[in-house]
Amino acid sequence: MSMILIDGKIVSNSILSRIKEETKSLKANRRIVPGLALLLVGDNPASKVYVNSKKKACEELGFYSVVEHLPNDISESKVLEYIDKWNNDDRIHGILVQLPLPKHINELKVTLKILPSKDVDGFHPENFGRLVIGLPGFRPCTPAGIVELLKYYNIDTSGKHVVVVGRSNIVGKPIANLLYQKAPYANAIVTICHTGGGDIRKYTQQADILIVAIGRPKFITSDFIKEGVVVIDVGINRVEDPKSSKGYKLVGDVDFDSVAPKSYAITPVPGGVGPMTIAMLMYNTFLSASGEIDYSSL
Ligand code: NAP
Repeated sequence: MSMILIDGKIVSNSILSRIKEETKSLKANRRIVPGLALLLVGDNPASKVYVNSKKKACEELGFYSVVEHLPNDISESKVLEYIDKWNNDDRIHGILVQLPLPKHINELKVTLKILPSKDVDGFHPENFGRLVIGLPGFRPCTPAGIVELLKYYNIDTSGKHVVVVGRSNIVGKPIANLLYQKAPYANAIVTICHTGGGDIRKYTQQADILIVAIGRPKFITSDFIKEGVVVIDVGINRVEDPKSSKGYKLVGDVDFDSVAPKSYAITPVPGGVGPMTIAMLMYNTFLSASGEIDYSSL
C-alpha cells in the first residue's frame, strides 16, 4: 500500500472556501461582517510574515481586519490599552496578538486581558479549561487544524495510541487534551513525551499516530517509529540552504525521507500542518462573529 501524503493546502483551502460562502450568508442575512484585530510588536521578520498572511486571509474571505504594528519598545500598558479598546469594539470579533512579544511585556498578562469570547487563538486559560473539560470554546488553531487533517483523511483516532512529542501550551498540551476527550474524532489513548523522558523511542515506537512539536530539525528518524504509523509533523525550522535564494529552507521536526517510507500517512513541511493554522484562525473568527459559541450561558 502506498503512503498517503497529508496535504494541508487542500484541506485548508476547502475550509477557507466554506468560510467564504458562510460569510456571504452572514453578511446578507444578519448584516454581520467578521472582524479580526491583529497586533504586532517589533520587527521579527517571521512574525511580520505571519501577520501579513493573516491579514491577506481576512481580505480574501471578506472579513474586516485591523493591524496595529507597534515599536519594540512600546510599554506593556499601551499594549493592554489596545486590547481593551478592541474588547469593547463591536466590529472586532477576534483579537490576535502575534507572539513572541519583547521580553519586557508579560505574554500571560496580555493573553489574560483578551476577552475569552474574542480569544480566537484559544490561548486564554478559560478557553484552555473549556477544552480540558469538554465545553464549547475556541480551540487553539494548530491543534484544531491537526484534528481537521485527521478527519479529512478519515484517520480514526478512537482507541488508537497517540504519542505527542512536546508539551508546549500552544501545541503539545492542547492536542493531547483534544484527542483523549470522550468525543467524536478523539477518544484516543494519549502519551506525552518531553525532555524529561530520556530516550523517548520506547514511547514513540508504540505510536499508532505520532504528533511531533519540538522545534528540532529532522529529530525523528525511522528508528523512532513502527511500520504503518500516521505522522503529523508540526515543526517549522529554518535550516541553512546555500542552494536557495533566501539562504535557508524550512524543514520539520521529522526526517521525512527516512520516516515517510515506513508510514501509512505523513504531513510534509512545508504544506502540512502549517496552512491549517491560519484556516482555523479564520474559522474561530467566523464562529465568534456568528455567535456559535455562547460564552454568556455559563
Ligand atoms: P516549544 O514551546 O519550543 O516547546 C518544545 C517542546 O518540545 C517542549 O515541551 C520540549 O520539552 C519538547 N522537546 C524539545 N526537544 C525534545 C526532545 N529532544 N525530546 C522530547 N521533547 C523535546 O514548542 P512549540 O511552540 O510547540 O513549537 C514546536 C515546533 O512547532 C516549532 O518548530 C514551531 O515553529 C512549530 N510550530 C508550528 C506551528 C504551525 O502552524 N505549523 C504552530 C506552532 C508551532 P520540555 O518541556 O521538556 O522542554
